[in-house]
Amino acid sequence: MSKITISIDGHSSCGKSTLAKDLAKELHYAYVDSGAMYRAVTLFFLENDVDPIDAPIVRNALENIEIRFQVLDGQNHTFLNGEDVEDEIREMYVSDYVSPVAAIPAVRRSLVRQQREMGKAGGIVMDGRDIGTVVFPGAELKIFLTADVDIRTRRRYDELRAKGVDIDLALVKQNLLERDHIDSNRADSPLTKAKDAVVIDNSYLNRTQQLQQALKLAKERIRLSE
Ligand code: C5P
Repeated sequence: MSKITISIDGHSSCGKSTLAKDLAKELHYAYVDSGAMYRAVTLFFLENDVDPIDAPIVRNALENIEIRFQVLDGQNHTFLNGEDVEDEIREMYVSDYVSPVAAIPAVRRSLVRQQREMGKAGGIVMDGRDIGTVVFPGAELKIFLTADVDIRTRRRYDELRAKGVDIDLALVKQNLLERDHIDSNRADSPLTKAKDAVVIDNSYLNRTQQLQQALKLAKERIRLSE
């Protein structure tokens, strides 16, 4: 069976990672969370006081960042220069700063190069904002996932509360809206639906239902690619 490339793009907190992970598991494909890479770079910038508008400093910082993923106890973990930063990169202080960092062209160039390298053999599901438009424009299946903003806010809020983060619902919504705005309006690879992407609105779909829809599409595209 041939192995295709699957991209899942969409707004913040609409369940892209959940769908991407479920799909990768069903198909025995690799899964890459490209957002975790932008978050890891952001964490590095924050920890090392990297001034995002100082181009030489940003270039130098990028040369000193090594990001890799490892599955531990069935969970995806992100490593930044050898350190497991999976929890830190999900913290609100990183979420508040990630979109401006992700808008820096040098950051995008560096991460897109690494993402293409990770996916060059196919058999990959990658989720993000520009995967179907920029990273893998030739992906056999492109999904654009979306959901109502209040439903997305509630999901993110519940996720953070379950982790013990004490946060206000209004602040979660504000962060989602701000990130969506910056991500959709930046000059370099803004979030847009690829022309050939299939839209799935999962506002009223559960995890199994969204997986079934995506799996059906994936199987069709795999068949077509043979
Ligand atoms: O997917 P997640 O919400 O964790 O991504 C965090 C941020 O990283 C996004 O809000 C966006 O600014 C940036 N991002 C991006 N391009 C991607 C993936 C994420 O710009 N492919």
